[in-house]
Amino acid sequence: MDSTSQQRFPDDARRVAESLAEYIDQSARRQAPVIRQQTMEQLIEQLKLERHLREGDLADETLQQFVEDYLQTTTRLHHPGFLAHQAAVPHTTGALGSLIDGATNNAMAIYEMGPGASSIEYFMINWMLRQVGWQGVPVGQQLDPDSPHAGGVLTHGGSLANLTALLAARSARVPEFWKRGNPGNLVVLVPEQSHYSIKRAVAILGLGEENCLTLPADENGRVDPNGMERQIEQLQADGRRIMAIAANACGTAAGLYDPLPAIARICRDHGIWLHVDAAHGGGALASPKLRHYLNGIELADSVVWDAHKMMCTPTVCAAILVRDHRHLDHAFEQEASYLLHAKDQPGFDFISRTVECTKAGLGLRLFMTLAAMGERGLAAHVEGLVERAGQAARLIAGRDRFEVAITPETNILCFRIEGNDSRQLEIRRRLLERGDFYISSTLYRGRRWLRLVFMNPLTTLGDVESLLEEILQIDSTLD
Ligand SMILES: *Cc1c(COP(=O)(O)O)cnc(C)c1O
Repeated sequence: MDSTSQQRFPDDARRVAESLAEYIDQSARRQAPVIRQQTMEQLIEQLKLERHLREGDLADETLQQFVEDYLQTTTRLHHPGFLAHQAAVPHTTGALGSLIDGATNNAMAIYEMGPGASSIEYFMINWMLRQVGWQGVPVGQQLDPDSPHAGGVLTHGGSLANLTALLAARSARVPEFWKRGNPGNLVVLVPEQSHYSIKRAVAILGLGEENCLTLPADENGRVDPNGMERQIEQLQADGRRIMAIAANACGTAAGLYDPLPAIARICRDHGIWLHVDAAHGGGALASPKLRHYLNGIELADSVVWDAHKMMCTPTVCAAILVRDHRHLDHAFEQEASYLLHAKDQPGFDFISRTVECTKAGLGLRLFMTLAAMGERGLAAHVEGLVERAGQAARLIAGRDRFEVAITPETNILCFRIEGNDSRQLEIRRRLLERGDFYISSTLYRGRRWLRLVFMNPLTTLGDVESLLEEILQIDSTLD
């Protein structure tokens, strides 16, 4: 880096921070559309990407102008009309964590490349393990490869964490797979409502997508434990080996929690690896009021929990947690002699637990977010979002022509207006064009629903009322 950009850094950072503060405030006040999609060509042109790249002129006013232009192209998560996806409205202190991580670039997969970042990750992993109901790891024992304590690592998203969890399951249940390949009779059982990353992970792991079988479900799409037990017995009688069973806590589409205690008991009885995908719903672990939805999670073998969903942490920051750390430590049985060797050092190398080699210090953004909110602040945040979804469900269910799919258990709410599936999609498309609201849609129980995810604490029931009104307006212009 040239020395002038270093000298300019405090001024540049101040300019950027001021633009961001203005942007957040403007978004929160609904003074700009929550979403506005122009074409890529338009944006590349508007942002003068060619010129800046050629001139290398991103400094002073030009930098500020670029940042302001860029902010105009964003989807505004701070806008109360942001109700579409499970991405956190990031805590500004956590965002500073991302900035510090970017500026220091401590690629902390090995301890010597970021002792503070590693220690913070270790500390936060322990905090998460305790929320799951597992023992946190004392430092001395963390370094003892033979002790059976829990363990985990922060990784770049829940999808990668799900892949890592199933890899740990494979290493634990089919240890010969790594060297010899697929024995041919393996299956993984997943909920009807499982996130697509699970099925994808099964395929990536070389089991074959066809061997990712769907668990029986009740009428709401939750795993049905009795049906599951019969399915297991049938598969075993057919000579299939069940490598793992996945359960949702909660599912992505409608946000329902699977009955973990019953599922876990059956997995225990049959010696089957239980993976709980709590990428979204793990946030409820932070709330004494909501934690009951996750009862039984402590019986799982592996858990995935995203901090960048319910926990206000800037994207990305996901945890893969295992009840016995050795399964994660043995999941990647590979030699990289320049990195993975016995060392006399005061800390721990996370590298043997992850797909990544260079790994960002994700713990910093998580720690700084939670340390700014405090544990009680986090609990209140999660409870507030879930409560709002419940209130909105009652409001919508009470309206003519609207139907709610199911009473929400988390901050996700599916509903629809009279009419067929394509009408729901058309309404969503037009809503996004208007730019007051940004909502998603999902297939659930064979039908298309409009889907609200309450991520922004500023979203009020008044916003939901306005949304319904806008939907009715749009609806009246159709057919
Ligand atoms: C969001 C989600 C994922 C994927 O996590 P990413 O961090 O988006 O990769 C996996 N499972 C569930 C249940 C989710 O809600």
